[in-house]
Amino acid sequence: MRYIDSHAHLADAAFDADREDVIARARSAGASAVISIGESIAAADRAANIAASHPGFVYHTAGIHPHDAAEFHEPRDIEAIRRHVAAGAIAIGECGLDYHYDHSPREAQRRAFESQLRLAGELQRPVVVHSREADDDISDMIGAAADAGVRGVLHCFTGTHAVAETALSAGWYVSFSGIVTFKKWDDIELLRLVPDDRLLVESDAPYLAPVPMRGKRNEPAFVTRTIERLATVRETSLDSIATQTAANTRHLFGLAMPDAHS
Ligand SMILES: [Zn+2]
Ligand SMILES: [Zn+2]
Repeated sequence: MRYIDSHAHLADAAFDADREDVIARARSAGASAVISIGESIAAADRAANIAASHPGFVYHTAGIHPHDAAEFHEPRDIEAIRRHVAAGAIAIGECGLDYHYDHSPREAQRRAFESQLRLAGELQRPVVVHSREADDDISDMIGAAADAGVRGVLHCFTGTHAVAETALSAGWYVSFSGIVTFKKWDDIELLRLVPDDRLLVESDAPYLAPVPMRGKRNEPAFVTRTIERLATVRETSLDSIATQTAANTRHLFGLAMPDAHS
């Protein structure tokens, strides 16, 4: 099978000791690309270097995570994201709202998210969105961004059907992580609700390793477990989930389609 990990934190210190092995294992497992998320400007700088040493395989993004929104400084950070996009970052994010942890005040989270959505509209780049327990605000802000022509993905999605439906009707994508393999995960209907052409898969590595690696450090090679779970629930083959989600990821982020012979 050939798949794309649409969301991995390859720049995370968890991979400092063996990053090249992790990337090699992703290739052996069938990955045709990995999107390395820059959840801060420092992480985006590191992710850009990783992408530069794996052209056509690792791509990077740049944004400010809602956890760090309290330190968001608009002129400085928007300028840095803009510079990353000009240098090849394929998307803005991850950004969004996290009202579960509330590591930053909600008002600051909304300001940082709003500002990044505005930049996405101006640059016409997709956004990678983190959303947790912020349904109403996420729906409102995604709806407004979609009206301005912004497309994106709700990453590591575990929210309500209503939010998923709002995103889907706005033309957005929904990405599932290893969480959907956990024994306690029971929202099977959510896994069936996302149409074939809007479905993405991701590791969110180093976090959220799927069963049976749960609790260990996650890595992009483990996305095959999430693909298996989706294939079972959606009553299709692993190959069709892998191929379809890879094509969707390429479409959302504007990546070249792979060479048919590679
Ligand atoms: Zn996230
Ligand atoms: Zn993430």
